[in-house]
Amino acid sequence: MAKIKETILELKHVSFSYGTVPAIDNVTFSVEKGDFVGMIGPNGSGKTTLVKLVLGLLKPENGTIKLFGKDINEFKDWNRIGYVPQKATGFDQNFPATVFEAASMGRFAKAGLAKQLSKADYTAIEKALEVVGMLKLRERRIGELSGGQQQRVFIARAFAAEPELLILDEPTVGVDAEAQHEFYSLLKQLNEKFGLTLILISHDIGMVSKKVNKLACVNIAVTMHDISKGINKADLHCAYSTGMELVPHHHGQVPA
Ligand code: ADP
Ligand code: MG
Repeated sequence: MAKIKETILELKHVSFSYGTVPAIDNVTFSVEKGDFVGMIGPNGSGKTTLVKLVLGLLKPENGTIKLFGKDINEFKDWNRIGYVPQKATGFDQNFPATVFEAASMGRFAKAGLAKQLSKADYTAIEKALEVVGMLKLRERRIGELSGGQQQRVFIARAFAAEPELLILDEPTVGVDAEAQHEFYSLLKQLNEKFGLTLILISHDIGMVSKKVNKLACVNIAVTMHDISKGINKADLHCAYSTGMELVPHHHGQVPA
């Protein structure tokens, strides 16, 4: 029998509305340790709302959310969760922080701002920059980097805090196709090498479906599809019914 994996995130019958309009309705799904979940759905389908609920920034009207087995209302270990928000790039040329400084913010979040960085902090920051391929550019100003490089720094910042679950909200918006491809490969590497559990919100189902093991189709409701053994008709239907277009990719085809 397969080993039972630790449940990292569990939603049961979660609903939320802004005013009277439901944004999320009766959503139930779970994420296990080591999962790489791709979350897809059209604009306004509730993806960011769902993430805000999971991060405790919004409170569900109905239903329950558990993080690492604990009810979200009692959960305190927020440093186990990393978050890269939408639009995390686009700094101007004069933005003062260097790559190293930006990545070190991930450790301050863990250690507290008043604290000095310890040797362990430095090691974790350097490792994170190394993993994303930005260690050589550690003294470069953030504003002088390309969009793709800025994203890598944001990943490093989140990764330096050594989270067990990392949530990324449309991290590749405004980044060219080549950088996107590299970026998804990097995430896959973090998932496989370090066992990092990932939830990635993306528009690019063609790319995402090649990297993830679960596909969450969001359209106020959520359906979860295990695609670790390939994509079947129901999964494709999920993609289509969320209004996504399946565009063949240069890097290969979506498995049928
Ligand atoms: P997505 O991330 O999938 O694009 P969102 O979760 O941002 O979708 O939004 C879901 C729905 O909730 C949309 O109809 C959006 O207009 C609405 N919405 C989002 N944020 C707010 C808000 N702060 N106040 C009112 N309505 C909102
Ligand atoms: Mg959004």
